[in-house]
Amino acid sequence: MKALLGGKGAGLAEMTRAGLPVPPGFTITTEACREYFAAGGVLAPDLLAEVDAAIADLEARTGKRFGDPANPLLVSVRSGAPISMPGMMDTILNLGLNDAVADGLARLTGDARFAYDAYRRFIQMFANVVLGLEHARFEAIIEDEKRRRGVETDPELPAEAWQAVIREFLALVEKETKRPFPTEPREQLVLAIRAVFDSWNNLRAIVYRKLHKIPDTLGTAVNVQMMVFGNMGDTSGTGVAFTRNPSTGENVLYGEFLLNAQGEDVVAGIRTPQPIAALREVMPEVYAEFERIARRLEAHYRDMQDIEFTIEKGKLYLLQTRNGKRTARAAVKIAVDMVKEGLIDEREALRRITPEMIDQLLHRRIDPNAPRTVLARGLPASPGAATGIVVFDADEAEARGKRGEAVILVRPETTPDDIHGLAVAQGVITSRGGMTSHAAVVARGMGKPAIVGAEGLKIDLEAETFRAGDVVVKKGDVISMDGATGEILLGAVALVEPEPDPEFETLLGWADRFRRLGVRANADTPEDAARARAFGAQGIGLCRTEHMFMAADRLPAVREMILAETPEERAAALEKIRPMQEEDFYGIFKAMAPYPVTVRLLDPPLHEFLPKYEELLLEVDRLARDPQADPARLQEKQAFLRKVRALKEENPMLGLRGCRLGILYPEVYAMQAEAIFRAAFRLRQEGVPANVEIMIPLVGHANELARLREVVDAAYRKVAEAFGAEMPYLVGTMIEVPRAALTADEIGRVADFFSFGTNDLTQTTLGVSRDDAEGKFLHVYVEEKILPDNPFVTLDTGGVGKLVEMGLRLGREANERLKVGVCGEHGGDARSIRFFHGAGLDYVSASPYRVPLARLAAAQAAI
Ligand code: PEP
Ligand code: MG
Repeated sequence: MKALLGGKGAGLAEMTRAGLPVPPGFTITTEACREYFAAGGVLAPDLLAEVDAAIADLEARTGKRFGDPANPLLVSVRSGAPISMPGMMDTILNLGLNDAVADGLARLTGDARFAYDAYRRFIQMFANVVLGLEHARFEAIIEDEKRRRGVETDPELPAEAWQAVIREFLALVEKETKRPFPTEPREQLVLAIRAVFDSWNNLRAIVYRKLHKIPDTLGTAVNVQMMVFGNMGDTSGTGVAFTRNPSTGENVLYGEFLLNAQGEDVVAGIRTPQPIAALREVMPEVYAEFERIARRLEAHYRDMQDIEFTIEKGKLYLLQTRNGKRTARAAVKIAVDMVKEGLIDEREALRRITPEMIDQLLHRRIDPNAPRTVLARGLPASPGAATGIVVFDADEAEARGKRGEAVILVRPETTPDDIHGLAVAQGVITSRGGMTSHAAVVARGMGKPAIVGAEGLKIDLEAETFRAGDVVVKKGDVISMDGATGEILLGAVALVEPEPDPEFETLLGWADRFRRLGVRANADTPEDAARARAFGAQGIGLCRTEHMFMAADRLPAVREMILAETPEERAAALEKIRPMQEEDFYGIFKAMAPYPVTVRLLDPPLHEFLPKYEELLLEVDRLARDPQADPARLQEKQAFLRKVRALKEENPMLGLRGCRLGILYPEVYAMQAEAIFRAAFRLRQEGVPANVEIMIPLVGHANELARLREVVDAAYRKVAEAFGAEMPYLVGTMIEVPRAALTADEIGRVADFFSFGTNDLTQTTLGVSRDDAEGKFLHVYVEEKILPDNPFVTLDTGGVGKLVEMGLRLGREANERLKVGVCGEHGGDARSIRFFHGAGLDYVSASPYRVPLARLAAAQAAI
């Protein structure tokens, strides 16, 4: 009945009906509120009559009376909209107080300080909410009193001080409103009800409704409820408890309480509360009742509850219950336990775990309680947290890392050249680049934290410093980073380790039963493949081969190949690389067998394997000016520079890369294909069922794929002959430029499978650079909601998604056996996975650490 009673009122009614001990009260409906507005802000006489009857009923049920100093009824008056609008509307507590009742409360509680403090709070709230006087004017009076008494904080003021404050409060109200403060509880109540209705139309409520698209016509309910006091002696108390441990999920009551105290004492930390178990000692019956109620509440709401309670003279009251906030670890354990207890089913358990929770469970985090100084923020590119010394150069990161130092690599951006530094660093931070930039992709693959596009960092590579606001951080200084939030922090900050419980495996096992999508991993090394498998990947959807070309022992041969002047020179260089590639593939196929491994042939522009042109130019310039320099060396460098310049492209992402390399230098792809088949045949001879899929990148025309398929098939025949054996294999293509999706029928006729490369497909469809745009302008697009999401993180379903659907449909029409997956970063994003499921793809492929998330998201899409 939320629409009629508001969220809070419906909750209170539900608890009351369930026989739970909530303080008695009544709710004035949203309908009454709408009538109040329709009548131009007048409370109808029959409503007032009903309120009087409800108060009389409340007095009869509680034995307390409005305005009776010997046993006063005090009430809270709170708003409660049908849709929660936290903090937007008004509340008044302790209504019913006046001078005589406050004296009575002081006697009843034996705590005059409390009684007069409660009274002055009531006056302050009432004057503010009902009479429209500024809060600050009352605070000023309190400040004066504290100054007069030479104390710093409110709790230090004794009862007499509060009595003096109250006199001044009442005088202020009378002066400002030209009327004495209303002392009659019924009058207070009627005024309060009107004020709560009116607060529906205060500015912040209107703005909140606009932001959250809540209709202005709903109106608010008003809840009037008896106040209960936990400070009425040693049989009273107050506390907060969770029905299960919110940090571990363990099924025990968890919380704290304070004897002879009110809720604020717990929150303000004035006294140290005791663990809830201590309640068993002092009030065993109350504890037993509380335990019973906790179990009932869980059974009723079918979730862990966070309960606020007060005990007034041995009688337990529940003030509030709601689904409790919990850590990721607790969420998983509670969901799995509740299935075992029969409270929820497996589907519901899977729905309750969010993808962010999975991320938290697999990665270190900054201790949420640790103090922190945030230097800057960037894009949260790869989750996990790290602390280490700042290093600006990959070689130095490698050297120091190998010595056992914890380093964080800070760069304007990273390139494949920096991979050795990334490999040993605890984490990486870049001031440029986006969520699919090199640093982001590589760090995600390695499962280490990355923050990219932190444009607030002004990096000076020469001086080896960075500036963030006023702070200058030098090489060797310690910083910390949280890749899940994008925060860069000064100094060392405490970290907490991930600790997945057995329940995590149970939950993911259920996910596997429900999901239809296959889940593979993007992995380039045997170690990554093994890790991905341990996380539950059933195959590799993308094995990028360029990282293999970067390894220090083969980079010289790769450069020889790139710079070769003649086919013979190139062939000689390729001969050196071939055996190394064969070993790479041998290890990966072995780690993944019998699951399929999709190896993508070389993709990036070749200049990525060469030194940067500008840096080389500076070096040549230095040599040219150095009279001692060896002229032969200078000449050699100059020749090198010319070749590097010849390869330099203005727009390399749209240049000589992907299958275009294979068309121009078929011997490179032939070498890779031979290495792949040799590794696979060797494994098969050893009884390991290597499962090979070869993928051609950046195809835009069926003829490109047809031509390169011949290269691969020829390599197969050559190797098969040498081994005297046969084996099945697939040849497919990435769909990562719009033309490929538009002509997927033609391409489908020559492909065994498609894999959507949604990183490039997003870049080319939106015409937005995946390397530059995020820090430069895309974040503004997202902040200002011109785009709903960062399209490099969550698939642009309206644009790129249409191409995916079209490519899938055309491809399958041409080739019904076509296998179709996705291997862009979107394969590890929960919302994108939901789309891929709906579109009918066969599998998604994500970096190893995102495989568990993908399994869960695929199941959530299917249930
Ligand atoms: C892609 O473009 O989506 C893809 C997976 O390839 P890469 O990120 O290596 O360009
Ligand atoms: Mg690509």
